[in-house]
Amino acid sequence: MAAAETDRDSPSALCSEFLNFSAKDTAAKWLQVSNLPKEVYQHLACYVPKIYCLGPNLNPQNEDLLAQLLLQSPLEWYLCGEEPSVGLAKLEQSNQPSQLCGHVFKVGEPTYSCRECAADPTCVLCMQCFLGSVHKEHRYRMTTSGGGGFCDCGDTEAWKKGPYCQKHEPNISDFSQKDPLANLSAEMVARTYNVFSIILKYAVDMLTWDKEDELPEGLEPPLRGDTYYCMLFNDEVHTYEQVIYTLQKAVNCTQKEAVSFATTVDRDGRKSVRFGDFQFCEQAKSVIVRNTSRQTKPLRVQVMHSSVVAHQCFALRALAWLGQTIRYSDALRRILCQVGLQRGPEGENSSLVDTLMLCDSKMWKGARNVYHQLFMSSLLMDPKYKKLFAIQFARNYRRLQTDFMEDDHERVVSVTSLSVQLFTAPTVARMLITEENLMTTIIRTFVDHLRHRDLQGRFQFERYTAQQAFKFRRVQSLIGDLKYVLISRPTEWGDQLREKFLKGFDAFLELLKCMQGMDPVVRQVGQHIEMEPEWEAAFTLQMKLTHIISMMQEWCASDEKVLIEAYKKCLSALTHCHSGFTDGEQPITLSMCGHSVDTIRYCVSQEKVSIHLPVSRLLAGLHALLSKTDVAYRFPEQLPLSELSPPMLIEHPLRCLVLCAQVHAGMWRRNGFSLVNQIYYYHNVKCRMEMFDKDLIMLQAGASMMDPNHFLMIVLSRFELYHIFSAPDFRKRCSRENANKDVVQQNNTLIEEMLHLVIMVVGERYTAGVGQVESTDEIKREIVHQLCIRPMAHSELVKALPENENKETGMERVIDSVASFKKPGVTGRGLYKLRPECAKMFNLYFHHYSRADQSKAEEAQRKIKRQNGEDSALPPPVLSRFCPLFASLVNILQCDVLLSILGAVLQWAMEPSGGHWSESMLQRVLHLIGMGLVEEQQHLISSTEDNVTSFNFTLKISRPGEAPGNTPSILALLETLQNAPHLEVHKEMIRWILKTVSNIKTTRECTASAPPTDSSGHSQEETVRDKDKAERKRKAEMARLRREKIMAQMSEMQRHFINENKELFQQSLEELDASPSSSLEHSPSCCDSVLVCVGPRRWRAGGSDRRQMVTCILCQEEQEIRSDGRAMVLAAFVQRSTVMSKNRKRPPHNPDKYDPLFMHPDLSFGTHTGSCGHIMHSHCWQRYFEAVQAKEQRRQQRLRVHTSYDVENGEFLCPLCECLSNTVIPLLPLTKNNCSVQPDLSQWLNITSLQMKALHSAHRKTNNAEGVDDTGDAEDCPSPYGFKLDHTPKNPYSSTIKEMLTTFGTTMYKVGLKVHPNEQDPRVPIMCWGSCGYTIQSIERLLVDEEKPLFGSLPCRQDDCLSSLTRFGAACWNVSSHTTVQSHFIRLFAALVPDSRVENIPCILDIDMFHLLVSLVLSHPAVLCLDSSGLSADAAQLHFLHLVTVAHLVQILLTSKPEEVRMEQESGGAEREEEESVCMLFNTLRTHLGRGLHEVSSGWHLWRCVKTGILPYLRAAALFFHYLNGAPSPPELHALSAGEWEALCGYLCLPSNLLQLYYKNQELLEPLLQRWCSHPGVLQGLQTSAALIRFPRESNHLIELPEDYSALINQASSFTCPKSGGDKSRAPTLCLVCGAMLCSQSYCCQTELEGEDVGACTAHTFACGAGVGIFLRVRECQVLFLSGKTKGCFYAPPYLDDYGETDQGLRRGNPLHLCQERYRKIQKLWRQHSITEEIGHAQEANQTLVGIDWQHL
Ligand SMILES: [Zn+2]
Ligand SMILES: [Zn+2]
Ligand SMILES: [Zn+2]
Ligand SMILES: [Zn+2]
Ligand SMILES: [Zn+2]
Ligand SMILES: [Zn+2]
Ligand SMILES: [Zn+2]
Repeated sequence: MAAAETDRDSPSALCSEFLNFSAKDTAAKWLQVSNLPKEVYQHLACYVPKIYCLGPNLNPQNEDLLAQLLLQSPLEWYLCGEEPSVGLAKLEQSNQPSQLCGHVFKVGEPTYSCRECAADPTCVLCMQCFLGSVHKEHRYRMTTSGGGGFCDCGDTEAWKKGPYCQKHEPNISDFSQKDPLANLSAEMVARTYNVFSIILKYAVDMLTWDKEDELPEGLEPPLRGDTYYCMLFNDEVHTYEQVIYTLQKAVNCTQKEAVSFATTVDRDGRKSVRFGDFQFCEQAKSVIVRNTSRQTKPLRVQVMHSSVVAHQCFALRALAWLGQTIRYSDALRRILCQVGLQRGPEGENSSLVDTLMLCDSKMWKGARNVYHQLFMSSLLMDPKYKKLFAIQFARNYRRLQTDFMEDDHERVVSVTSLSVQLFTAPTVARMLITEENLMTTIIRTFVDHLRHRDLQGRFQFERYTAQQAFKFRRVQSLIGDLKYVLISRPTEWGDQLREKFLKGFDAFLELLKCMQGMDPVVRQVGQHIEMEPEWEAAFTLQMKLTHIISMMQEWCASDEKVLIEAYKKCLSALTHCHSGFTDGEQPITLSMCGHSVDTIRYCVSQEKVSIHLPVSRLLAGLHALLSKTDVAYRFPEQLPLSELSPPMLIEHPLRCLVLCAQVHAGMWRRNGFSLVNQIYYYHNVKCRMEMFDKDLIMLQAGASMMDPNHFLMIVLSRFELYHIFSAPDFRKRCSRENANKDVVQQNNTLIEEMLHLVIMVVGERYTAGVGQVESTDEIKREIVHQLCIRPMAHSELVKALPENENKETGMERVIDSVASFKKPGVTGRGLYKLRPECAKMFNLYFHHYSRADQSKAEEAQRKIKRQNGEDSALPPPVLSRFCPLFASLVNILQCDVLLSILGAVLQWAMEPSGGHWSESMLQRVLHLIGMGLVEEQQHLISSTEDNVTSFNFTLKISRPGEAPGNTPSILALLETLQNAPHLEVHKEMIRWILKTVSNIKTTRECTASAPPTDSSGHSQEETVRDKDKAERKRKAEMARLRREKIMAQMSEMQRHFINENKELFQQSLEELDASPSSSLEHSPSCCDSVLVCVGPRRWRAGGSDRRQMVTCILCQEEQEIRSDGRAMVLAAFVQRSTVMSKNRKRPPHNPDKYDPLFMHPDLSFGTHTGSCGHIMHSHCWQRYFEAVQAKEQRRQQRLRVHTSYDVENGEFLCPLCECLSNTVIPLLPLTKNNCSVQPDLSQWLNITSLQMKALHSAHRKTNNAEGVDDTGDAEDCPSPYGFKLDHTPKNPYSSTIKEMLTTFGTTMYKVGLKVHPNEQDPRVPIMCWGSCGYTIQSIERLLVDEEKPLFGSLPCRQDDCLSSLTRFGAACWNVSSHTTVQSHFIRLFAALVPDSRVENIPCILDIDMFHLLVSLVLSHPAVLCLDSSGLSADAAQLHFLHLVTVAHLVQILLTSKPEEVRMEQESGGAEREEEESVCMLFNTLRTHLGRGLHEVSSGWHLWRCVKTGILPYLRAAALFFHYLNGAPSPPELHALSAGEWEALCGYLCLPSNLLQLYYKNQELLEPLLQRWCSHPGVLQGLQTSAALIRFPRESNHLIELPEDYSALINQASSFTCPKSGGDKSRAPTLCLVCGAMLCSQSYCCQTELEGEDVGACTAHTFACGAGVGIFLRVRECQVLFLSGKTKGCFYAPPYLDDYGETDQGLRRGNPLHLCQERYRKIQKLWRQHSITEEIGHAQEANQTLVGIDWQHL
């Protein structure tokens, strides 16, 4: 790289030449010349290489500027014939713009489609058009664009209604479609034509130019230097990492440069990576090729001459210029289209547009994008040329697709992707079908690309290589094109369209024929198959074609002639497929019950069978359509009905269904999973429409044309059950087959499946054409049956229903008629519940139920019936009527063979099952009998005489069997079975049947056609009551079991832990009694006087020491908390926090130098401590932690997996609740102060000042003694009375407690400052006090935000945490150097009582007063311990509180805002005293500060400021002293009440007029006040009032989010990556804390943090959230929680659709709206510092989250 940095000054060398250039003159010259193209080329040949590509780094701004001046400007002058800006403006004015919006979408931009009005889902609107359209009130879908494509606003074909938005509404006056060229003068047209044809030709020549070292004729540069580029091209084979690694090696660049190269290559498709002489570039090329050619084909690299690259650069620029220029006028656009499509010298398909398209796959990405854009803004925007272009596109279609197969770019950058713009316009598509035979072309191209066939010519995907599989994926896009062409059905048919469609249909049948019978399977016996056969490719094909097949049928159905022709063609195709239907298969004769039929011998279990039968299924579909229209009845002679051979029709579908049955019966186990998967998809909602459903229809069609007895015999034969039912002695079946239990079991399942099939063949009448129903009935029935299982969310229902080609299920039209909607709460989602009246449609044997669905639905329905006090039989529902073509199917129910089968099963059921029959078999038989009865009832109701006699099921079942069997009648059997004790479960159904039979009989007997009585049997009240009782008993039992289970789980949790750590626990498990830890604290022993928490008058524990007993969760032993006892600890989690920060711009502190002694009032960084409240012995915890560590080490060695916690950082999960923890807090008893001397403020100030002086000089002395050079005079100060500097107090704590004090303190220090642990560091105690203050403050805020009272509402765990944290704070000085703590105290005290000897004390505006109070109180014991005169600690605490409160008052007054509106609000005297005194104080401050303070007139306003400003401080102080001194809280503070102020002041021993604190000691405090104000920082702070922190500080909120989610998408779509120069960001992510938008999950925005590469989000969390972050991933609509570099989880977004569901990943596209409750829930998690905990729980619950590389997000 270094070689070439120098020659960037060339433009200036050329400057003079450029300055003398005149565009106008050049254009004038061009007007004169005869050979304009040559002249222009000469100009380009001369200038282009001088402007572009002069050095290694292209300089787009400079180049574009020069190109504008020297190259474009003369062209524009020539074009306009005048000053271009004037000429173009004129053009624009006279233009009548087209009504198309045509806005081209950026990646990630929101697009909208109306689900009611769009012609198809590809019709979309841009946000602007959408908001101005009628569709925003409709049901719409919102998606994000993948880039490319444009807004369809104004395209009347795209929208059923409302095609225009307000902006693109046409003026009715000029609606006449006139030629836009009419507005232009002839000369202008000619000139435009000239310029456009030269420039477009030039651009096409250059972009399709493939020589590296030469230029086209006429463009050779006048000077040729040895300057080359080494150009690297993009492909989709090599990864980012490979490219980056290779580049670093090949061109010797840094990683950063390599990343930037790789990013550009990925974006633009190519990038020069080296500039220099030929040799230099060639060398880099060979390194790159060598390095990347090992596994795959090498990266494409070319060494290109700089002039070639220069012309290509300008060619791109020229295309962009053309695009801009035609925007001025539709006329110019039309001329460009004309130029582009003009036939070239080589004849057909040689226009410039053709040339570009045909070279598409050879061009680099950037070039393709530019010319595709130009096509979109020209050819596709002009209605006339859009058609001509479409024709060219269709003619080249096969070539383009073939090129695309070889292309190594994605489809979005291929010209083939333009098909969506052309083919979805219905008129264009229709024209291409009729004129260019497009349907046939697409299908043939598709078939040609699938070359692998078996001997019968069927597709074979078996041994696909990776490359063939890649091609197969590509070729699927052709199916997409076919779908576009078919998506809108013609309303009118012409002969030509019929002809061409049927031609296409022929081609389609050829395709289906290649699929009929593909992937056949043979049952594996003996050994398991060795290799799972390939099956996915065939199913992918089937799935992709599903909608096409459906659409083909719809097209056929829209025209009778076409339908009949298609039917014929399909039938002959099927006949052709199965011409060898009986080949090699022996004919046999079956006979039963006096009927006999000829068929073939074929066993599914022995011969080949295939699941793919698209030809049969298409025919089934067409047959149903024929049946639906009445053509079949009007012109039966036109139909080839006589050619139909019903046995042939049903044969293959039947085999397929039998295959499923056998798989269920376990007969194909050895064939492995591939078969199981195929069967699964065969029934799956994605495929069943054109697979399972159609097979069933085909069986129905075939059966309706056959004698039902024959049909059933063939069915029995194919199920391989014929021998069981045909044998006269089938009753002895059990004894005969006893030998093999497996076979019996198999046969039982097969019989069940066979009966189910019969139920379906007779009962499934909800397809239009089969039954007399509408399509809405079908969808209603689907929904009813889904909801019979359980209430479901909208998306669950959508998933369970088949979608059509428009991605619609049709659910919205009917859902409200069958279900009611229940809204969701803060969690969960909205649910649809079945309307009770729809339950009568329930069919237990609904054909789309899986066995699991069926049993769930059965259970649910029985339960509902019982709840309603009905009998729980589930008889078959009343069905709709068959269409005439299918009407004869009902006779199956009463045919001899079926009755014989039913009788046989009932006969078996006489005896308790020993495995010879099954409950479900019997249940199906009863259902079939029920169906017969329901059918008969229906016939009776509609009672035409004919029906009544022809369908007499009751008669048939009352007839006994004939000789020789002499079996009893079915009815007789049922009557016997009714009382069989082993059939208890079926009793109600049998009872229902018998009752219905007698009903029917009565009806028939009263031949007078009285309507039948209600068939639903009402059971006697008695049984209902019995049942109720039983039900209640059962419920009680269930509840008991559930309770027991929970208890067992809880003790299991503990046991589990102990088992895992067995080595630790010698104790026997019996000791494990679930005894919760008990705390005896907080029971006030005296409540006589007012409760006070601080000062000499404070509440004290009554006489005897209160003992505090706790239980260790690990060893279950009880332990008393004593200072000399064994240490007990609380699991805790310490984290840095910015939740309360008022200044997120403050840069993180330098951890090594930062002095945390004074917290700034902006609270920008704090240390928060939380706990789950679980208590352990310190030694139990230590052993536990060591075990976790050891286990973790072993695990990491073995599995290298991460865990949700980082052991190396001291993290562990609480052994009881698995809460993330990183340290423990020692539990300490209350300290007792027994002192007598209670000095007043002035005495105390005196003493303390003397103490300070003494300490100060003593410290100096030691420093001097240690050799620290201190020039200050070390005067000897006399100590006050009883103050012994050399006194070393006794440490009251046991060794284990001391150890824990150190442990916790060190964690505070380590986590809070992000440094390595060092227990000696003087900042350790400061961090402890700080965390105490910060945690109390944050909890005070939380209580306000949650509107909860100060006391009594905290959960136990927080209560325990705060109390132990505070007591720890008071004790931690014991384990630090006393001198250090003393000197901290000296500095803290100096902030209140300024001391000239102490330096670098911040002014009172820069101190958070609560932190100061806490630190003073907690550090003071280190000073007080030197005193032996009996000074009271309580008095000191009270004096600290008073002093700090006064300082805070001053702070609030100084920062108060002047009142904005002067309000006449003098209060009624109640607080007159306070108002006057606050005014006085304020005026005193003004005298000290003068101009720095504003004037006030109203004490009312000031007093209000003071009161609201100081309240959070007082509340926090109350919490602090409450926990420190253990004083019970006053009841007034246990509720939200108006008396809070007085109660707080009383509890804190403060006067309710706080100003009295000052005025009572004015002579003492006045000098302090003066000195505070004289600190230079005060004046400075007041002058920069913008940065001033004012009180009260408001609670922080997460940012405001828009109500409509698309507003966010739109915002994100215009967001560009801040690092890679205006590039779109792939994963724009919004910080919910500060509102910053980030470019996440991308190389471009990775930065280095603490020596590691991290993504933008992780980097941001460190600045914004001290390591914790809450983000919204906008494209995914997903909330992201991050903590540190290794932890993260996804969280449900606060956006819901109208059905109360979130849409993570934006897959469904329903409009989303903000749910405030859910957002508040996230905010609460954040405010209470629970994000990290939430992540921990999520990661424990879902281990895959642990593996994600969170730091790269
Ligand atoms: Zn638009
Ligand atoms: Zn519009
Ligand atoms: Zn609409
Ligand atoms: Zn223990
Ligand atoms: Zn816990
Ligand atoms: Zn942020
Ligand atoms: Zn970026």
